[in-house]
Amino acid sequence: MNIILFGPPGAGKGTQATQLATNHNLLHISTGDILRAAIKEGTPLGIEAKHYVESGGLVPDSVIIGLVREVLQANIGPDRGFLLDGFPRTVEQARALDTLFRDIDIKDVRIVILIAPEEELVGRMLKRGVELGRKDDTEETIRHRLEVYTAQTSPVRAYYEETRQVSEVDGLGRVEEVAARIDKALRQSPPALHW
Ligand code: ADP
Repeated sequence: MNIILFGPPGAGKGTQATQLATNHNLLHISTGDILRAAIKEGTPLGIEAKHYVESGGLVPDSVIIGLVREVLQANIGPDRGFLLDGFPRTVEQARALDTLFRDIDIKDVRIVILIAPEEELVGRMLKRGVELGRKDDTEETIRHRLEVYTAQTSPVRAYYEETRQVSEVDGLGRVEEVAARIDKALRQSPPALHW
């Protein structure tokens, strides 16, 4: 099994993804984590991405698509599935992923969207900003990220729903409650098989 987990910033994707990946022995690929690590280390990718990430914008599709392609091609084999967290974030990324799945012959993919009301998202990110010191978790940047989500990422859902099943999961409640909802959705939803 392979999973695409997406949803607005602050919905809890990172927390759920970490647990899900462990439980199902999946390779957890978080584009946000990869970018933050690159920024911290000052690699060429980090230098290019820094301004976009810290201002709450999106890193250009060409950069992020190349990155995900490399990571998937290098790590995926017949006995190890993956969990994509934070990718795709634009319809162009979703299209590129379709092509990649065809190229490397990936079939069984479940698509899960984790949602929560906007006030909850903002509250969670402000709290995380204080706790973790993430530069993109300040009030103004959070507003911008939510706008970017609405404009660029929410169309990904419509794109997938044209031809595939997307399971919507409510991200409100305790971490374990949300995890149980995701597991239930995974058990009930048929995988998308056509890419
Ligand atoms: P959150 O889910 O809270 O928004 P992430 O860690 O997923 O946090 O992403 C943080 C930032 O990293 C994004 O606001 C964006 O700048 C950048 N980023 C992550 N994934 C992508 C992607 N697929 N395409 C473009 N930019 C990305």
